[in-house]
Amino acid sequence: MNFISTRGQAPRATFSEALLSGLAPDGGLYMPDAWPRVDVAGGSYRDAAFAVLRAFADFDDAALKADIASAYATFDDPHIAPLAEIGEGRYLLELFHGPTLAFKDIAMQLLGRLFARALAQRGGRATVLAATSGDTGSAAIAALGGLPDIELFVLHPKGRVSEVQRRQMTTSTHANIHNIALEGSFDDAQAIVKALFADEAFARKTQLTAVNSINFARIAAQSVYYFTATAALGRAATFVVPTGNFGDVFAGEAAMRMGLDVERLVVATNANDIVARALNDGLYEAGRAEQTLSPSMDIQVASNFERALFEASGRDDAFVRDAMAERRLVLPAAVRTALAARYEAHAVGDAQTLATLAQVHKATGRLIDPHTAVAVAAAERIGERGAGRTAGPSAHQKTGPVVILSTAHPAKFPDAVARATGQIPPLPPGLSGLHQKRENFTVLSPDLGLVRSFIAARVPAS
Ligand SMILES: *Cc1c(COP(=O)(O)O)cnc(C)c1O
Repeated sequence: MNFISTRGQAPRATFSEALLSGLAPDGGLYMPDAWPRVDVAGGSYRDAAFAVLRAFADFDDAALKADIASAYATFDDPHIAPLAEIGEGRYLLELFHGPTLAFKDIAMQLLGRLFARALAQRGGRATVLAATSGDTGSAAIAALGGLPDIELFVLHPKGRVSEVQRRQMTTSTHANIHNIALEGSFDDAQAIVKALFADEAFARKTQLTAVNSINFARIAAQSVYYFTATAALGRAATFVVPTGNFGDVFAGEAAMRMGLDVERLVVATNANDIVARALNDGLYEAGRAEQTLSPSMDIQVASNFERALFEASGRDDAFVRDAMAERRLVLPAAVRTALAARYEAHAVGDAQTLATLAQVHKATGRLIDPHTAVAVAAAERIGERGAGRTAGPSAHQKTGPVVILSTAHPAKFPDAVARATGQIPPLPPGLSGLHQKRENFTVLSPDLGLVRSFIAARVPAS
């Protein structure tokens, strides 16, 4: 299996090369040159992960199995991603049983291990750079902290992540972890990360790499729970996915392209609804990132949407190249039609998020986190047309179960949960000391040169 760039101007890469570099050298995202067919019929979560990963990865079976086993041994539920019924034919897919309480752990715990393995095979060091809206950073720190030959720099938007999210990042005691609180938005952080990758001399000198959701290994690892949930329910489902950078929902498309029968993928966004507008109105145009109660989705530039555009255009890399250069992209009719055959989208505001959180608590006694609440609210609107949509296919007839991806533990966002329900969700036992630990981070203004020198000064000369 080889990997190609969505922008068509990068050499083919192996899985290990794509894993270690993150972004393709032409600025595009890596994709498999052809989708493998994968069958997951029952078995454990680990078996399913092995079936999916071995279709892509260039590691031997024993190594892959060992990494999968140890990655998921860090989870506090034996099913890794269990389903919980919250109503007639409606399920939560709990993705928050990993060490940092958000779904990012599912991919990152595995990616960290595969990454260390690929790096040991290649030799040399790596500088890992991650822009985070909160959860990727802590998941990366939990996965890479203390690993040899790796320095990890995490940029989070100062004051725009929850206190639990910040403390999970800044209380790491590993010397290879460097936290930067950027005085700006997530999009500012992501822009700086992209600019540092584009700086070839710097990228080469520091052996720069990304573990953001642009890394294909994360997409592969996240597609696993679409398979296991479908196998557990015994029939095709509609998946509702709280969406920011479009990585998690694209993992659903990846599962479909590997042969999984899925009824529909429902994209749930908060007020930062660029992707919902693109899918409903055919206009992809970034505005200003707004702060909401679901901060991990406060994103305007949804990097992985590029992968969906690549597929929806029939893998037309010239189209993707031009499209990504536009500030205001009007999607061609054929691309819109292809996207609409798979996706629908609903944007949910903070008031609705709080109301849904309260309503789920009242009806089921469960506390859910605000990102999950956005998806529960969107699930209520399946089949409704997006606002402003004047053309497009008729409302989808849904018959199977609805699976709502529950992407974070409520204790990660206690303020929003308390506002909606009056209850403060307790931290799981493993994290109870979090508020007593010492924090360590550096505040920087969103200036490319400043961030570059900060990193250069902390990467050992090789
Ligand atoms: C990252 C994140 C999301 C959004 O996932 P994307 O892959 O960026 O679309 C949703 N919810 C939570 C809790 C997250 O951490």
